[in-house]
Amino acid sequence: MSAVLSARPAALALPARTIAVAQGDGIGPELLDATLAILRAADPGVVPHAVTVGLEAYRTGAQAGFGREVVDAIAEHGVLLKGPITTPQGGGYKSVNVSLRKTFGLYANLRPCVAYDPVVPSRHPGMDVVIVRENEEDTYAGIEHRQTREVVQCLKLVSRPGCERIVRYAFEYARRHGRRKVTCMTKDNIMKLTDGLFHRVFQEVAGEYPELATEHMIIDIGTAKMAVDPGRFDVVVTPNLYGDILSDVAAEVAGAIGLAPSANLGQGVAMFEAVHGSAPDIAGRDVANPSGLLLSSVMMLVHLGRAGAASAIHNAWLSALEDGFHTIDLAGASGRRPVGTRDFARAVIDRL
Ligand code: NAD
Repeated sequence: MSAVLSARPAALALPARTIAVAQGDGIGPELLDATLAILRAADPGVVPHAVTVGLEAYRTGAQAGFGREVVDAIAEHGVLLKGPITTPQGGGYKSVNVSLRKTFGLYANLRPCVAYDPVVPSRHPGMDVVIVRENEEDTYAGIEHRQTREVVQCLKLVSRPGCERIVRYAFEYARRHGRRKVTCMTKDNIMKLTDGLFHRVFQEVAGEYPELATEHMIIDIGTAKMAVDPGRFDVVVTPNLYGDILSDVAAEVAGAIGLAPSANLGQGVAMFEAVHGSAPDIAGRDVANPSGLLLSSVMMLVHLGRAGAASAIHNAWLSALEDGFHTIDLAGASGRRPVGTRDFARAVIDRL
C-alpha cells in the first residue's frame, strides 16, 4: 500500500459521470470542498450534483433530513458522496444516515481499517482489516416505543434473508480480494435468537467457501482483541451496532479515525462517506483531516470503474503524507508541524 508510483490523471478518456454529493454538517463542507477539488484535478469527468441533507434540510421541514428531490437525484445517479451529518439529539428527528441506508437498501457497510505505517505512525504496523457491517437491521434500525412513562423499548429485528445477504457478501468479498479468513462476531451467548440466527447463518454459508478459514468470537472479547492484536483478523462480519463500534476502535488503532473511509452498498445505489462524524468541536477552523472522505471517494471511483483516477489520488495522497503534510490529528504522533485542510488538499493536487 505504501508504494508511491508515478501516476498521471488517467481518466480523461472516460465518459463523464454525474454523482450526487451532499456536504453534510460540521466539518462536512470543508471536507467535501477539499475532496471535490482533488477529484476535479484527477478526473474532470466526474460531475457533482449537489443535494441538501442534514441540518439544513431539517430546518426547511424535511423530518427525515432530506426531501423527495434528493431521493430522485440519488436514484438517478446511483451514487452519493456524503459528508458527515449531525443527528440532533432528542425526539422528532430520524437519523439521515439510517434513513438513507433504508431508503436505498444499502445493506452492506464496508469499512477497511488500514495502517499506513511508517507514513502515519500506527500502534499496529501492517494492520489491514476489513469490517463488513450489516447496515439495515438490529437495534440500529432505531425502532423504539414508549411502553409507559418510565419504560421504553428498542426492537432488535434480525431476519434470515438479512443475515444471509451480509454474510454471503463478506465471504464473496474475501474470495474476490484473496483474503484468508472471515471472523463473525456476535453476542449469541446472551441474545440466543437474534445473534444466534446471525451466527447460525454464518456457519451454514461458511460451508460454501472451504478455502477460507472461519472463526466466531463474542463481540466484547473480539473488540478487545481488535484493540491489542488486530493482525489476527482479516475480514470481520458483524451485526449493525457492533460493527459501528468495532470499526471506530479498528480505525483508531490503525492510525486515526480521520483516515477511515467507508462504502454503503446495495442493489443499484451506493453511498460513500468517512467513518467519523461531523466533529462540531473543530468545525469551520480548516484543521480537519479530509482523508476519510477522500479515501471514500477513491472507493467510489473504483466502484464506478475509474480505477486510473482512484490510484492516482491514492498515490498522491500517500505521497503528500510521506512529504510531511499532516493535519492536526496526525501531527501529534508524527511530530510534524500541522497543515490545514486546504493546504493538505493542495499538497495532494500538486502530486497528482
Ligand atoms: P466524531 O467522529 O464527529 O468526532 C469524534 C472525535 O474525533 C472529535 O474529537 C473530532 O474532532 C475527531 N475527528 C473526527 N473526524 C475528524 C477529522 N476528519 N479530522 C480530525 N479530527 C476528527 O464523533 P461525535 O463527536 O461522537 O459525533 C458528532 C456528530 O456526528 C453526532 O451528531 C453524530 O450523530 C454524528 N455522526 C455522523 C456520522 C455520519 O454522518 N456518518 C457518523 C458518526 C457520527
